[in-house]
Amino acid sequence: MCGIVGIYSQTPVAAELYDSLIHLQHRGQDAAGMLTSAGKFYVKHGLGYVREIFTPADIARLKGNIGLAHVRYPTAGGHDIEDVQPLWIGSPRGIALAHNGNLVNHAELTHEMTAQKHRHLNSSTDSEVLLHLLAEGLEQAGDAPDDVEAFFAKACQAVRYVMSRARGSFSVVSQLIGKGLLVFRDPHGIRPLVSGARKTADGTDYIFASEDTMFSALGFENMGDVAPGEIVFVNQRGQLFRHILSQQQFAPCIFEHVYFSRPDATLNGVSVYAARLRMGEKLAQHWQRVFPKILPDVVVPAPFTSNTAALAFAQQLGVRYAEGLYKNPFIGRTFIMPEGAARRRNVRYKLTPQKAELVGKRVLILDDSIVRGTTSREIVRLVREAGATEIYFVSACPPVKHPCFYGVDMPSYAELIAANKTIDEIKQFLGVDQLLYQTIEDLVSAVQDTATHPCMACLNGKYIAGVPVNA
Ligand code: SF4
Repeated sequence: MCGIVGIYSQTPVAAELYDSLIHLQHRGQDAAGMLTSAGKFYVKHGLGYVREIFTPADIARLKGNIGLAHVRYPTAGGHDIEDVQPLWIGSPRGIALAHNGNLVNHAELTHEMTAQKHRHLNSSTDSEVLLHLLAEGLEQAGDAPDDVEAFFAKACQAVRYVMSRARGSFSVVSQLIGKGLLVFRDPHGIRPLVSGARKTADGTDYIFASEDTMFSALGFENMGDVAPGEIVFVNQRGQLFRHILSQQQFAPCIFEHVYFSRPDATLNGVSVYAARLRMGEKLAQHWQRVFPKILPDVVVPAPFTSNTAALAFAQQLGVRYAEGLYKNPFIGRTFIMPEGAARRRNVRYKLTPQKAELVGKRVLILDDSIVRGTTSREIVRLVREAGATEIYFVSACPPVKHPCFYGVDMPSYAELIAANKTIDEIKQFLGVDQLLYQTIEDLVSAVQDTATHPCMACLNGKYIAGVPVNA
Protein backbone atom coordinates (compact mmCIF):
# COMPACT_ATOMS: atom_id res chain seq x y z
CA MET A 1 0.00 0.00 0.00
CA CYS A 2 1.17 3.51 -0.70
CA GLY A 3 -0.22 7.01 -0.66
CA ILE A 4 -0.03 9.32 -3.66
CA VAL A 5 -0.94 12.93 -4.32
CA GLY A 6 -0.71 15.27 -7.29
CA ILE A 7 -1.49 19.00 -7.11
CA TYR A 8 -1.98 21.70 -9.72
CA SER A 9 -2.01 25.13 -8.08
CA GLN A 10 -1.80 28.83 -8.89
CA THR A 11 1.05 29.06 -6.34
CA PRO A 12 4.09 26.90 -5.41
CA VAL A 13 2.96 23.43 -4.36
CA ALA A 14 5.81 21.98 -2.29
CA ALA A 15 4.45 23.01 1.12
CA GLU A 16 1.02 21.61 0.31
CA LEU A 17 2.56 18.38 -0.98
CA TYR A 18 4.35 18.07 2.35
CA ASP A 19 1.12 18.66 4.27
CA SER A 20 -0.60 16.08 2.07
CA LEU A 21 2.06 13.50 2.85
CA ILE A 22 1.58 14.08 6.56
CA HIS A 23 -2.10 13.27 6.01
CA LEU A 24 -1.17 10.13 4.04
CA GLN A 25 1.58 8.91 6.39
CA HIS A 26 -0.56 6.00 7.63
CA ARG A 27 -0.47 4.51 4.11
CA GLY A 28 3.29 4.02 4.09
CA GLN A 29 6.11 4.61 6.53
CA ASP A 30 9.06 3.13 4.67
CA ALA A 31 9.99 6.11 2.51
CA ALA A 32 8.63 9.24 0.89
CA GLY A 33 9.37 11.53 -2.02
CA MET A 34 8.30 14.76 -3.65
CA LEU A 35 8.79 16.06 -7.18
CA THR A 36 7.83 19.42 -8.63
CA SER A 37 8.45 21.02 -11.98
CA ALA A 38 9.24 24.49 -13.25
CA GLY A 39 10.83 23.88 -16.64
CA LYS A 40 12.76 20.99 -15.05
CA PHE A 41 12.12 18.53 -12.27
CA TYR A 42 13.05 19.23 -8.65
CA VAL A 43 13.19 16.06 -6.56
CA LYS A 44 13.65 15.01 -2.94
CA HIS A 45 13.54 11.37 -1.84
CA GLY A 46 14.27 9.80 1.52
CA LEU A 47 13.81 6.74 3.72
CA GLY A 48 11.68 6.86 6.84
CA TYR A 49 8.87 9.12 8.02
CA VAL A 50 7.81 12.25 6.16
CA ARG A 51 8.87 14.49 9.06
CA GLU A 52 12.36 12.95 9.03
CA ILE A 53 12.92 13.45 5.30
CA PHE A 54 11.94 16.98 4.32
CA THR A 55 13.46 20.19 5.66
CA PRO A 56 12.32 23.79 5.15
CA ALA A 57 15.26 24.16 2.75
CA ASP A 58 13.90 21.27 0.65
CA ILE A 59 10.49 22.88 0.45
CA ALA A 60 12.08 26.15 -0.70
CA ARG A 61 14.16 24.32 -3.31
CA LEU A 62 11.21 22.35 -4.78
CA LYS A 63 10.00 24.99 -7.24
CA GLY A 64 6.87 25.00 -9.33
CA ASN A 65 3.09 25.03 -9.25
CA ILE A 66 2.61 21.39 -10.25
CA GLY A 67 3.91 18.50 -8.17
CA LEU A 68 3.62 14.90 -7.09
CA ALA A 69 4.35 13.15 -3.82
CA HIS A 70 4.38 9.61 -2.51
CA VAL A 71 4.61 7.68 0.75
CA ARG A 72 5.81 4.15 0.33
CA TYR A 73 5.48 0.81 1.89
CA PRO A 74 6.84 -1.80 -0.42
CA THR A 75 4.79 -4.58 -1.98
CA ALA A 76 7.06 -4.74 -5.06
CA GLY A 77 10.71 -3.78 -5.03
CA GLY A 78 12.86 -3.35 -1.98
CA HIS A 79 13.77 -0.81 0.68
CA ASP A 80 16.43 1.08 -1.27
CA ILE A 81 16.48 4.79 -2.04
CA GLU A 82 16.27 3.92 -5.77
CA ASP A 83 12.80 2.47 -5.13
CA VAL A 84 11.43 5.69 -3.66
CA GLN A 85 8.86 7.56 -5.77
CA PRO A 86 8.01 9.78 -7.62
CA LEU A 87 10.14 8.32 -10.41
CA TRP A 88 11.07 10.27 -13.51
CA ILE A 89 12.48 9.82 -17.00
CA GLY A 90 13.92 12.39 -19.41
CA SER A 91 12.73 11.04 -22.79
CA PRO A 92 10.67 11.43 -24.96
CA ARG A 93 10.04 14.36 -22.60
CA GLY A 94 10.32 14.90 -18.86
CA ILE A 95 7.77 12.47 -17.40
CA ALA A 96 7.36 11.79 -13.67
CA LEU A 97 5.04 9.35 -11.97
CA ALA A 98 3.83 8.19 -8.56
CA HIS A 99 1.94 4.92 -8.37
CA ASN A 100 -0.21 3.12 -5.84
CA GLY A 101 -0.94 -0.50 -6.66
CA ASN A 102 0.76 -3.59 -7.96
CA LEU A 103 1.24 -4.98 -11.46
CA VAL A 104 0.71 -8.72 -11.59
CA ASN A 105 2.67 -8.92 -14.86
CA HIS A 106 5.61 -7.00 -13.38
CA ALA A 107 8.08 -9.82 -14.09
CA GLU A 108 7.09 -10.21 -17.76
CA LEU A 109 7.15 -6.46 -18.38
CA THR A 110 10.53 -6.12 -16.68
CA HIS A 111 11.90 -8.90 -18.87
CA GLU A 112 10.55 -7.14 -21.95
CA MET A 113 12.02 -3.78 -20.91
CA THR A 114 15.46 -5.13 -20.04
CA ALA A 115 16.19 -8.35 -21.99
CA GLN A 116 14.30 -7.42 -25.17
CA LYS A 117 14.39 -3.62 -25.33
CA HIS A 118 17.70 -3.21 -23.48
CA ARG A 119 16.42 -0.44 -21.23
CA HIS A 120 18.11 0.40 -17.97
CA LEU A 121 15.87 0.25 -14.89
CA ASN A 122 17.12 2.11 -11.84
CA SER A 123 14.86 0.33 -9.36
CA SER A 124 13.25 -3.04 -8.78
CA THR A 125 9.73 -1.59 -8.69
CA ASP A 126 6.77 -2.23 -10.94
CA SER A 127 6.19 1.54 -10.84
CA GLU A 128 9.29 2.15 -12.95
CA VAL A 129 7.98 -0.31 -15.52
CA LEU A 130 4.72 1.63 -15.53
CA LEU A 131 6.70 4.84 -16.11
CA HIS A 132 8.42 3.27 -19.12
CA LEU A 133 5.07 2.09 -20.50
CA LEU A 134 3.72 5.62 -20.21
CA ALA A 135 6.82 7.00 -21.92
CA GLU A 136 6.41 4.46 -24.72
CA GLY A 137 2.75 5.35 -25.11
CA LEU A 138 3.51 9.08 -25.28
CA GLU A 139 6.27 8.51 -27.80
CA GLN A 140 3.98 6.44 -30.01
CA ALA A 141 1.19 9.03 -29.75
CA GLY A 142 3.46 11.99 -30.59
CA ASP A 143 3.09 15.63 -29.55
CA ALA A 144 0.60 18.37 -30.40
CA PRO A 145 2.55 21.47 -29.31
CA ASP A 146 -0.05 24.15 -29.99
CA ASP A 147 -3.38 22.43 -29.46
CA VAL A 148 -4.35 21.30 -25.97
CA GLU A 149 -7.34 19.24 -27.07
CA ALA A 150 -5.24 17.44 -29.65
CA PHE A 151 -2.61 16.78 -26.96
CA PHE A 152 -5.27 15.39 -24.62
CA ALA A 153 -6.29 12.97 -27.41
CA LYS A 154 -2.66 11.87 -27.61
CA ALA A 155 -2.45 11.47 -23.83
CA CYS A 156 -5.58 9.29 -24.02
CA GLN A 157 -3.88 7.18 -26.67
CA ALA A 158 -0.80 6.83 -24.45
CA VAL A 159 -2.75 5.83 -21.34
CA ARG A 160 -4.89 3.45 -23.38
CA TYR A 161 -1.61 1.79 -24.35
CA VAL A 162 -0.59 1.57 -20.66
CA MET A 163 -3.96 0.03 -19.78
CA SER A 164 -3.59 -2.51 -22.57
CA ARG A 165 -0.17 -3.63 -21.28
CA ALA A 166 -0.32 -3.36 -17.49
CA ARG A 167 -2.39 -5.86 -15.50
CA GLY A 168 -3.23 -5.47 -11.84
CA SER A 169 -3.94 -2.32 -9.87
CA PHE A 170 -2.65 1.15 -10.62
CA SER A 171 -3.77 4.55 -9.45
CA VAL A 172 -1.31 7.02 -10.95
CA VAL A 173 -0.49 10.71 -10.67
CA SER A 174 2.05 11.90 -13.21
CA GLN A 175 3.32 15.11 -14.72
CA LEU A 176 4.75 15.98 -18.08
CA ILE A 177 7.18 18.88 -18.40
CA GLY A 178 5.68 21.62 -20.51
CA LYS A 179 2.23 19.99 -20.46
CA GLY A 180 0.70 19.52 -17.01
CA LEU A 181 -0.68 16.97 -14.57
CA LEU A 182 -1.87 13.60 -15.88
CA VAL A 183 -3.86 11.22 -13.66
CA PHE A 184 -5.34 7.79 -14.34
CA ARG A 185 -6.78 4.75 -12.57
CA ASP A 186 -6.86 1.12 -13.66
CA PRO A 187 -10.04 -0.16 -15.36
CA HIS A 188 -11.21 -1.97 -12.20
CA GLY A 189 -10.46 0.97 -9.90
CA ILE A 190 -8.92 -1.36 -7.32
CA ARG A 191 -6.83 1.24 -5.48
CA PRO A 192 -8.51 4.52 -4.50
CA LEU A 193 -7.99 7.91 -6.16
CA VAL A 194 -10.05 10.92 -5.09
CA SER A 195 -10.17 14.36 -6.71
CA GLY A 196 -10.73 17.83 -5.29
CA ALA A 197 -10.95 21.42 -6.47
CA ARG A 198 -10.33 24.83 -4.86
CA LYS A 199 -11.45 28.14 -6.30
CA THR A 200 -9.00 31.00 -5.96
CA ALA A 201 -8.97 34.57 -7.22
CA ASP A 202 -6.69 33.48 -10.06
CA GLY A 203 -8.42 30.26 -11.11
CA THR A 204 -9.11 26.73 -9.90
CA ASP A 205 -6.56 24.47 -8.19
CA TYR A 206 -6.86 20.69 -8.38
CA ILE A 207 -5.74 17.84 -6.18
CA PHE A 208 -5.75 14.07 -6.78
CA ALA A 209 -4.91 11.79 -3.86
CA SER A 210 -5.31 8.28 -2.45
CA GLU A 211 -7.64 9.71 0.19
CA ASP A 212 -9.34 13.05 0.75
CA THR A 213 -7.88 13.27 4.27
CA MET A 214 -5.99 16.49 3.48
CA PHE A 215 -8.74 18.24 1.52
CA SER A 216 -10.28 20.03 4.47
CA ALA A 217 -6.93 21.28 5.81
CA LEU A 218 -5.91 22.59 2.39
CA GLY A 219 -9.29 24.06 1.47
CA PHE A 220 -10.21 21.64 -1.35
CA GLU A 221 -13.76 20.45 -2.01
CA ASN A 222 -14.16 16.76 -2.78
CA MET A 223 -15.29 16.42 -6.40
CA GLY A 224 -15.58 12.65 -6.37
CA ASP A 225 -13.36 9.73 -7.23
CA VAL A 226 -11.42 9.36 -10.43
CA ALA A 227 -13.53 6.69 -12.14
CA PRO A 228 -12.15 3.25 -12.99
CA GLY A 229 -10.41 3.44 -16.36
CA GLU A 230 -10.55 7.25 -16.36
CA ILE A 231 -7.84 9.71 -17.43
CA VAL A 232 -7.80 13.29 -16.12
CA PHE A 233 -5.47 15.94 -17.51
CA VAL A 234 -4.90 19.45 -16.14
CA ASN A 235 -2.79 21.55 -18.48
CA GLN A 236 -0.42 24.32 -17.43
CA ARG A 237 -3.18 26.93 -17.66
CA GLY A 238 -5.47 24.95 -15.38
CA GLN A 239 -7.85 23.61 -18.03
CA LEU A 240 -9.17 20.21 -16.99
CA PHE A 241 -10.02 17.38 -19.39
CA ARG A 242 -11.33 13.94 -18.43
CA HIS A 243 -12.42 10.85 -20.28
CA ILE A 244 -13.21 7.22 -19.41
CA LEU A 245 -10.95 5.08 -21.56
CA SER A 246 -11.98 1.61 -20.44
CA GLN A 247 -15.00 0.44 -18.48
CA GLN A 248 -14.76 -2.88 -16.70
CA GLN A 249 -16.30 -4.19 -13.51
CA PHE A 250 -15.61 -1.68 -10.72
CA ALA A 251 -13.84 -3.58 -7.94
CA PRO A 252 -12.47 -1.19 -5.27
CA CYS A 253 -10.47 -2.81 -2.47
CA ILE A 254 -12.79 -3.51 0.47
CA PHE A 255 -9.80 -3.59 2.80
CA GLU A 256 -9.45 0.19 2.46
CA HIS A 257 -12.58 0.45 4.59
CA VAL A 258 -11.52 -2.29 6.99
CA TYR A 259 -8.04 -1.09 7.77
CA PHE A 260 -6.05 1.14 5.48
CA SER A 261 -7.87 4.37 4.98
CA ARG A 262 -8.14 6.94 7.71
CA PRO A 263 -11.60 7.04 9.32
CA ASP A 264 -12.18 10.60 8.14
CA ALA A 265 -11.74 9.57 4.50
CA THR A 266 -14.59 9.26 2.02
CA LEU A 267 -13.97 6.74 -0.74
CA ASN A 268 -16.36 6.24 -3.63
CA GLY A 269 -18.88 8.35 -1.75
CA VAL A 270 -18.73 6.11 1.34
CA SER A 271 -17.51 7.46 4.68
CA VAL A 272 -14.90 5.10 6.11
CA TYR A 273 -15.99 6.09 9.62
CA ALA A 274 -19.65 5.26 8.94
CA ALA A 275 -18.66 1.96 7.30
CA ARG A 276 -16.61 1.00 10.38
CA LEU A 277 -19.50 1.87 12.70
CA ARG A 278 -21.72 -0.45 10.65
CA MET A 279 -19.02 -3.15 10.77
CA GLY A 280 -19.04 -2.98 14.58
CA GLU A 281 -22.82 -3.02 14.80
CA LYS A 282 -23.19 -5.99 12.45
CA LEU A 283 -20.42 -7.91 14.17
CA ALA A 284 -22.13 -7.36 17.53
CA GLN A 285 -25.44 -8.62 16.13
CA HIS A 286 -23.59 -11.67 14.84
CA TRP A 287 -22.06 -12.14 18.32
CA GLN A 288 -25.51 -11.98 19.89
CA ARG A 289 -26.74 -14.71 17.53
CA VAL A 290 -23.73 -17.02 18.05
CA PHE A 291 -23.08 -16.41 21.77
CA PRO A 292 -26.43 -15.22 23.19
CA LYS A 293 -25.36 -16.05 26.75
CA ILE A 294 -21.90 -14.50 26.75
CA LEU A 295 -21.66 -10.85 27.68
CA PRO A 296 -18.20 -9.35 28.20
CA ASP A 297 -17.57 -6.77 30.91
CA VAL A 298 -15.74 -4.44 28.53
CA VAL A 299 -15.12 -4.07 24.81
CA VAL A 300 -11.51 -3.09 24.10
CA PRO A 301 -10.34 -2.02 20.65
CA ALA A 302 -6.91 -2.93 19.31
CA PRO A 303 -6.06 0.75 18.77
CA PHE A 304 -6.44 2.80 16.63
CA THR A 305 -8.03 1.42 13.45
CA SER A 306 -10.50 -0.71 15.42
CA ASN A 307 -11.71 2.07 17.70
CA THR A 308 -14.69 3.05 15.55
CA ALA A 309 -16.00 -0.50 15.08
CA ALA A 310 -15.46 -1.27 18.78
CA LEU A 311 -17.49 1.80 19.75
CA ALA A 312 -20.49 0.56 17.74
CA PHE A 313 -19.98 -3.02 18.93
CA ALA A 314 -20.08 -1.99 22.58
CA GLN A 315 -23.13 0.19 22.03
CA GLN A 316 -25.02 -2.64 20.31
CA LEU A 317 -24.21 -5.02 23.20
CA GLY A 318 -24.92 -2.42 25.88
CA VAL A 319 -21.41 -2.97 27.30
CA ARG A 320 -18.82 -0.39 28.25
CA TYR A 321 -16.27 0.62 25.60
CA ALA A 322 -12.94 0.70 27.40
CA GLU A 323 -9.56 1.98 26.34
CA GLY A 324 -7.87 -1.07 27.80
CA LEU A 325 -4.77 -0.69 25.64
CA TYR A 326 -2.83 2.54 25.38
CA LYS A 327 -1.04 2.99 22.09
CA ASN A 328 2.10 5.04 21.73
CA PRO A 329 1.25 7.05 18.61
CA PHE A 330 4.90 7.62 17.71
CA ILE A 331 5.65 4.02 16.75
CA GLY A 332 4.65 2.82 13.27
CA ARG A 333 1.81 0.42 12.57
CA THR A 334 2.91 -3.19 13.03
CA PHE A 335 1.03 -4.46 9.99
CA ILE A 336 3.36 -2.63 7.70
CA MET A 337 6.59 -3.37 9.52
CA PRO A 338 8.65 -5.47 7.12
CA GLU A 339 10.04 -8.12 9.47
CA GLY A 340 8.00 -10.55 11.57
CA ALA A 341 10.25 -10.35 14.64
CA ALA A 342 10.17 -6.55 14.60
CA ARG A 343 6.39 -6.70 14.30
CA ARG A 344 6.04 -8.89 17.39
CA ARG A 345 8.48 -6.79 19.42
CA ASN A 346 6.72 -3.60 18.44
CA VAL A 347 3.38 -4.79 19.81
CA ARG A 348 4.88 -4.54 23.29
CA TYR A 349 6.72 -1.32 22.52
CA LYS A 350 3.64 0.46 21.37
CA LEU A 351 0.81 -1.05 23.45
CA THR A 352 0.53 -0.74 27.20
CA PRO A 353 -2.31 -2.45 29.07
CA GLN A 354 -4.54 -0.24 31.23
CA LYS A 355 -4.84 -2.59 34.18
CA ALA A 356 -7.75 -0.68 35.70
CA GLU A 357 -9.84 -1.73 32.68
CA LEU A 358 -8.66 -5.34 32.55
CA VAL A 359 -8.04 -6.86 36.00
CA GLY A 360 -10.64 -9.48 36.88
CA LYS A 361 -12.73 -8.74 33.79
CA ARG A 362 -14.12 -10.68 30.85
CA VAL A 363 -12.55 -8.69 28.05
CA LEU A 364 -13.69 -8.69 24.43
CA ILE A 365 -10.92 -7.45 22.12
CA LEU A 366 -12.02 -6.16 18.73
CA ASP A 367 -9.43 -5.94 15.98
CA ASP A 368 -9.94 -4.84 12.39
CA SER A 369 -8.52 -8.09 10.99
CA ILE A 370 -6.35 -11.11 11.73
CA VAL A 371 -3.73 -11.59 9.02
CA ARG A 372 -0.77 -13.59 10.34
CA GLY A 373 -2.17 -13.88 13.85
CA THR A 374 1.14 -12.95 15.49
CA THR A 375 0.09 -9.40 16.41
CA SER A 376 -3.27 -10.61 17.73
CA ARG A 377 -1.57 -13.28 19.86
CA GLU A 378 0.74 -10.71 21.44
CA ILE A 379 -2.21 -8.46 22.22
CA VAL A 380 -4.02 -11.36 23.88
CA ARG A 381 -0.93 -12.20 25.96
CA LEU A 382 -0.67 -8.60 27.10
CA VAL A 383 -4.31 -8.50 28.18
CA ARG A 384 -4.05 -11.89 29.91
CA GLU A 385 -0.91 -10.85 31.79
CA ALA A 386 -2.68 -7.68 32.87
CA GLY A 387 -5.27 -9.75 34.75
CA ALA A 388 -8.24 -10.42 32.42
CA THR A 389 -10.14 -13.55 33.50
CA GLU A 390 -11.59 -14.39 30.09
CA ILE A 391 -10.69 -13.06 26.66
CA TYR A 392 -12.92 -13.06 23.61
CA PHE A 393 -11.51 -11.94 20.27
CA VAL A 394 -13.57 -10.62 17.37
CA SER A 395 -12.41 -9.53 13.92
CA ALA A 396 -14.23 -6.86 11.93
CA CYS A 397 -12.95 -8.57 8.78
CA PRO A 398 -13.77 -12.14 7.69
CA PRO A 399 -10.90 -14.67 7.59
CA VAL A 400 -8.08 -13.55 5.29
CA LYS A 401 -7.39 -16.75 3.36
CA HIS A 402 -5.67 -15.58 0.19
CA PRO A 403 -2.71 -13.30 -0.59
CA CYS A 404 -3.22 -9.87 -2.11
CA PHE A 405 -1.55 -9.22 -5.44
CA TYR A 406 -2.98 -5.72 -5.81
CA GLY A 407 -0.85 -3.69 -3.46
CA VAL A 408 -1.59 -4.67 0.14
CA ASP A 409 0.92 -6.58 2.22
CA MET A 410 -1.17 -9.71 2.65
CA PRO A 411 1.64 -12.24 2.53
CA SER A 412 1.86 -15.68 0.96
CA TYR A 413 -0.57 -18.49 1.74
CA ALA A 414 2.03 -19.93 4.11
CA GLU A 415 1.90 -16.83 6.35
CA LEU A 416 -1.87 -16.34 6.44
CA ILE A 417 -3.22 -17.97 9.56
CA ALA A 418 -6.75 -18.47 8.18
CA ALA A 419 -5.36 -20.25 5.12
CA ASN A 420 -3.68 -22.85 7.28
CA LYS A 421 -5.73 -23.32 10.44
CA THR A 422 -9.35 -24.00 11.36
CA ILE A 423 -11.25 -21.54 13.53
CA ASP A 424 -10.64 -23.78 16.56
CA GLU A 425 -6.94 -23.94 15.80
CA ILE A 426 -6.77 -20.14 15.44
CA LYS A 427 -8.57 -19.83 18.77
CA GLN A 428 -5.93 -22.02 20.38
CA PHE A 429 -3.08 -20.19 18.64
CA LEU A 430 -4.35 -16.85 19.90
CA GLY A 431 -5.04 -18.26 23.36
CA VAL A 432 -8.59 -16.90 23.60
CA ASP A 433 -11.78 -18.24 25.13
CA GLN A 434 -13.96 -17.34 22.15
CA LEU A 435 -13.26 -16.15 18.62
CA LEU A 436 -15.65 -14.68 16.09
CA TYR A 437 -15.14 -13.28 12.60
CA GLN A 438 -17.38 -10.92 10.63
CA THR A 439 -19.19 -12.66 7.75
CA ILE A 440 -18.47 -11.61 4.17
CA GLU A 441 -22.15 -10.70 3.69
CA ASP A 442 -22.14 -8.42 6.75
CA LEU A 443 -18.90 -6.76 5.67
CA VAL A 444 -20.26 -6.01 2.20
CA SER A 445 -23.48 -4.63 3.61
CA ALA A 446 -21.54 -2.54 6.17
CA VAL A 447 -19.42 -0.89 3.50
CA GLN A 448 -22.47 -0.11 1.33
CA ASP A 449 -20.21 0.67 -1.58
CA THR A 450 -21.90 1.56 -4.83
CA ALA A 451 -19.58 -1.00 -6.42
CA THR A 452 -21.65 -4.16 -6.55
CA HIS A 453 -18.59 -6.41 -6.61
CA PRO A 454 -15.77 -4.87 -4.55
CA CYS A 455 -12.44 -6.65 -4.62
CA MET A 456 -12.41 -9.23 -1.83
CA ALA A 457 -9.85 -11.56 -3.37
CA CYS A 458 -8.03 -11.94 -0.05
CA LEU A 459 -11.31 -13.21 1.42
CA ASN A 460 -12.85 -15.20 -1.43
CA GLY A 461 -9.95 -15.92 -3.82
CA LYS A 462 -11.62 -14.22 -6.82
CA TYR A 463 -8.87 -12.19 -8.49
CA ILE A 464 -10.54 -9.83 -10.92
CA ALA A 465 -7.31 -8.53 -12.46
CA GLY A 466 -5.42 -11.83 -12.59
CA VAL A 467 -2.49 -13.13 -10.57
CA PRO A 468 1.26 -13.31 -11.24
CA VAL A 469 2.34 -16.32 -13.30
CA ASN A 470 4.30 -17.79 -10.41
CA ALA A 471 1.51 -17.29 -7.81
FE1 SF4 B 1 -7.86 -5.25 -1.14
FE2 SF4 B 1 -7.92 -7.83 -0.49
FE3 SF4 B 1 -8.44 -7.02 -3.00
FE4 SF4 B 1 -5.96 -6.85 -1.99
S1 SF4 B 1 -7.13 -8.73 -2.39
S2 SF4 B 1 -7.04 -5.30 -3.20
S3 SF4 B 1 -6.42 -6.32 0.16
S4 SF4 B 1 -9.64 -6.58 -1.15
